[in-house]
Amino acid sequence: MWPNGMRCAVSFTFDFDAEEVWIGEDPTNADKPGVLSQGTYGAKIAVPLILELLARHGVQATFFVPARVAERHPLRIKEIVAAEHEIAHHGYTHTSPTKLSREEEEQELVRGLDVLGAFGVEVVGYRSPSWDFSPNTEELLQVHGFRYSSNFMDDLRPYRRAASSLVEIPITWILDDAAHFWFDGATWTKKISTAEEVRSIWEAEFRGYHRLEGAFVLTMHPQIIGRPYRLELLEEMIEFVKRHDDAWIATCRQIAERVP
Ligand SMILES: [Zn+2]
Repeated sequence: MWPNGMRCAVSFTFDFDAEEVWIGEDPTNADKPGVLSQGTYGAKIAVPLILELLARHGVQATFFVPARVAERHPLRIKEIVAAEHEIAHHGYTHTSPTKLSREEEEQELVRGLDVLGAFGVEVVGYRSPSWDFSPNTEELLQVHGFRYSSNFMDDLRPYRRAASSLVEIPITWILDDAAHFWFDGATWTKKISTAEEVRSIWEAEFRGYHRLEGAFVLTMHPQIIGRPYRLELLEEMIEFVKRHDDAWIATCRQIAERVP
């Protein structure tokens, strides 16, 4: 499945949710600047640090962006595009399609494509804000020209979906920074993981994907992974992957193109 005798694929993906994840979780958060500042950190501080780190290692990544984040932080999107990372769809607002009517869902998709497309990129990938589909999602993605989805946990390898021509690039909570590091006022007693704990899980998972010739897709959020100790973890993960000559680092779009 992978080019040039490569044994597995690796994709570093960033869900650039910024303030929208907090507003999507509770619309009253839109009036709470302290709550929103957690998301602002992603746009203001984390994305520039991540872009610098990726550039230093020559890694091309995929950024899944709610289009309202692109409207609020257009300069950051321009910087991501200028660095030739992939931009993919992550809703207009950060609202699960399962909560939307068919019409509302289609409006979210179309508005998102319009806003992101205005940055001069072709958007072919979709990651739902909830990693879930409504009964209409797959058909709407097909109608609007998407080529891949990155939403489901049922495989280690990308595959062609049965109900459409979309490629699925599977994800998992295990490889999501939020599962290990998410913290907010409602999870006060939760322990925040050390980098060492997460590194040991991610490296062991990688060894399995490598053995089984899968696509190791890390899902990260700038506001979460972009803290100093976690950026060290990201850098160490890039270096760890690069020590495997037969691991192909690619964008989700490049991975999707390998699926027959
Ligand atoms: Zn998100």
